Amino acid sequence: MKDTETEILVVGAGPAGLIAAREAAQKGVEVTILEEHAAIGRPCHCAGLLSLKGLTTIGIPSRGQFIQNRVKGARFFSPSGLSFTVERDQPVACVVDRCLLDSFLAQQAEDAGARICLNARVNDVKREGSRVTAYTGKTRNAAELLIDAEGVSSRIVRIFGLKPLNFEGVLPGLQHDITGVHVDPNYVEVHVGRKRAPGFFAWVIPLKEDSARIGLACKDGNPKDLLEKFINNRFPGETGLERFATRSGMVVTCGPIERTFDDRVMIVGDAAGHVKPTTGGGVILGGVCASIAGEVAAEAIKRRKFSAEFLQRYERLWKIKLGKEFKTGLLARKLMNNLSDKAIDKLFRLVIEENLQTLISVEGDMDFQSNVLMKLLKKKKVLRMLPSLLTALSPFKN
Ligand SMILES: Cc1cc2nc3c(=O)[nH]c(=O)nc-3n(C[C@H](O)[C@H](O)[C@H](O)COP(=O)(O)OP(=O)(O)OC[C@H]3O[C@@H](n4cnc5c(N)ncnc54)[C@H](O)[C@@H]3O)c2cc1C
Repeated sequence: MKDTETEILVVGAGPAGLIAAREAAQKGVEVTILEEHAAIGRPCHCAGLLSLKGLTTIGIPSRGQFIQNRVKGARFFSPSGLSFTVERDQPVACVVDRCLLDSFLAQQAEDAGARICLNARVNDVKREGSRVTAYTGKTRNAAELLIDAEGVSSRIVRIFGLKPLNFEGVLPGLQHDITGVHVDPNYVEVHVGRKRAPGFFAWVIPLKEDSARIGLACKDGNPKDLLEKFINNRFPGETGLERFATRSGMVVTCGPIERTFDDRVMIVGDAAGHVKPTTGGGVILGGVCASIAGEVAAEAIKRRKFSAEFLQRYERLWKIKLGKEFKTGLLARKLMNNLSDKAIDKLFRLVIEENLQTLISVEGDMDFQSNVLMKLLKKKKVLRMLPSLLTALSPFKN
């Protein structure tokens, strides 16, 4: 078995791992990334809808080959077909090809000095003396510090005895890229409803006028059957629909794990539950936390401090920045999950009658949603709905 040594070892070359690696390498420390697959970004399991502001926040230019479309708003549809639109004058979000975006991030990490090893699946990790070691079938990789960026199925979290994601809130998702549809390329569609997509929603993300990324995630039921039903209902009578990229994956809606650090270890991205519970979007918020992890890791190397006591600053810092977002998002997700289709319709009617979509359009932020959610809750008529909303949060209704 070949032995390697580095200062920081990152397991997983998804966006979280690559961003953590980039940030640490930029501070001049030695970083190696181990990725199990033969190519970066493959297989892809993401719809690729990202806010333009969020992209800039995580150090990615909002122009690039990875951008497939730009959208200026979203149309929300209730179970009975009520709808409202939230929009801005200019595009606020883009649809990206995740494979190309991840490759771009890999290039950034390499430019900063990080080394990426492909075909390197980590099977085991151990703390050994003054090192942490990751074992692949062929190599034994020792480091001062390890960043776990394995994504939703992280094994490292368990090996180090940390509490993993609450899989009650990790949902199977499925999507196709479909041509031959008629969609408005400026707007994403979000379709909610217990029968349509229990515990989540169905999405139509336009790529062009005649093609879209269409998918859903759900807590109960079979995503394949529900998605077929959704496509048939959304595009009735449209013939010649062609599916050309089917992707599945697990959508994280359960919020962060209890502890995201330990001696010589930090957990980032989906593995840490750093995903918006409302939408399952994890690239931007996961990227923000990963970038904090990269900075703390570099500082740990420079100060030669690798204990949990020192690394807890990572958790303190991401909580300062995003703790409120995850908490509010989780509350909103729980509420939505427990509302009947009738109650969701009532909520939609309220939004439309009170013109709350204007408030959401003006004050909403795709990534930092707590501000507008709290403002909505303070509206008199929403407050009046509160008793039924709180009933929905009863511990007996999971
Ligand atoms: C259907 C679907 C649609 C989504 N749509 C959106 C969206 O529109 N916008 C958004 O922001 N987010 C979306 N997400 C969520 C987003 O994909 C994730 O939040 C994001 O990819 C998390 O990044 P990550 O780096 O933590 O994990 P991942 O992207 O999963 O990367 C983990 C990497 O680690 C590697 N790996 C795992 N285990 C090992 C190991 N033992 N050894 C070596 N390598 C390993 C994997 O091969 C992978 O490359 C979606 C998710 C799904 C399932």
